[in-house]
Amino acid sequence: LTILGLESSCDDTAAAILRVGARAEILAQTVHSQGNLHAAYGGVVPEIAARAHAEKLDLCVAEVLRASGLALREMDAIAVTAGPGLIGGVMSGVMCAKGLAVGAGLPLIGVNHLAGHALTPRLTDDVAYPYLMLLVSGGHCQFLRVDGAQDFTRLGGTIDDAPGEAFDKTARLLGLAQPGGPAVEAEAAQGDPARFAFARPLLDRPGCDMSFSGLKTALLRARDAIIAEKGGLTVQDRRDLCAGFQAAMRDVLAEKTRRALAACPDLAVIAVAGGVAANQAVRGALMEVAEAAGVRFIAPPLALCTDNAAMIAYAGAELYRAGQRDDMALAARPRWPLDSAAPSMLGSGK
Ligand code: ATP
Ligand code: FE
Repeated sequence: LTILGLESSCDDTAAAILRVGARAEILAQTVHSQGNLHAAYGGVVPEIAARAHAEKLDLCVAEVLRASGLALREMDAIAVTAGPGLIGGVMSGVMCAKGLAVGAGLPLIGVNHLAGHALTPRLTDDVAYPYLMLLVSGGHCQFLRVDGAQDFTRLGGTIDDAPGEAFDKTARLLGLAQPGGPAVEAEAAQGDPARFAFARPLLDRPGCDMSFSGLKTALLRARDAIIAEKGGLTVQDRRDLCAGFQAAMRDVLAEKTRRALAACPDLAVIAVAGGVAANQAVRGALMEVAEAAGVRFIAPPLALCTDNAAMIAYAGAELYRAGQRDDMALAARPRWPLDSAAPSMLGSGK
């Protein structure tokens, strides 16, 4: 099965060609990031993103076709992110995929972006269903029980900010570079995590729900208290604030992961995806939790943990095998929960 995948739901335009047999092989892939286009605005601007996706999609497709040495008609299907995400970008991708599918007479498959992330461990590693997935990125944070390519159960997630967003805001509050994650991690490596004992939100409540907006406020207060007292932050203050913040983040993610695993004693694998999974402190803590629970820990290479089209092509391949075929009626969906069940299966424990 040879599949072309397209991704344009946020600020990366991407295309990939996969050959999926017993194992999946990435024949070609490319990602054009728009990070620099949005840098001046401090966040992704939807209109700019949509226009850039529309411009870049054709280019991405041409690039992967050239790199793979294949022609469009040699594909078996075209998979495209149909949501959730910024509607303009998702529409650009869906329209591009429809045009290619009609032009080459190929089946079209609409893929949920989150399913793409959630199935990535099966693309990179030999992982059988069911398994537990922790998605931690700039826009998402949730635990998913994955029982099949179309069978997801959300066990819990953040009730406010996503961890990546919290890392980015922390960096902004401390005058560090964006994206904030790597910058905060580098500072934290030289800081004292014990100097600021930030609260670990929601650990007192049962279940797998998380909250990170209070952590950001606590950091802001601590920063302002230092500035009020001494007139500014020293290099070491900044490092200690980062270390305290990262330790709180790590502890919350680790404890909630422990609970998610305890809630699903039949699972033998936990996998992570999303940019925050690149954080060594977080990753190390999750590994320890997995080891203590006796389950295998899988962290795909970072390029496949963040937004990419290989994961969309792979999910498309699984859906193709499951019989899914979309047509010109395929709609772009800004919101598209993977799981129709209640937001928190385990309850946030009132
Ligand atoms: P989504 O895919 O959910 O729509 P996104 O595209 O923003 O959101 P990703 O590309 O998966 O998410 O990840 C980007 C986020 O990961 C940013 O918020 C960034 O700060 C964070 N991040 C990257 N590296 C690290 C790190 N080493 N430590 C912590 N956070 C990190
Ligand atoms: Fe994503």
